[in-house]
Amino acid sequence: MTKVLKCGDLMPGCDFEARAETEQEILQSAAAHAKEVHGLDATPELVEHVKGAIKDE
Ligand SMILES: [Zn+2]
Repeated sequence: MTKVLKCGDLMPGCDFEARAETEQEILQSAAAHAKEVHGLDATPELVEHVKGAIKDE
């Protein structure tokens, strides 16, 4: 089972997608992406938000 995060679910208009086997890997990719592209730090609130948007594929 692959897990996928579609950034567009959180940030309308963004087409970034992270795929990985584990939630931890996705969170790492998402944190790097959020920082680079959206200028956001991976606060606990943001991490919770991202976790809620991760889906199994
Ligand atoms: Zn994004």
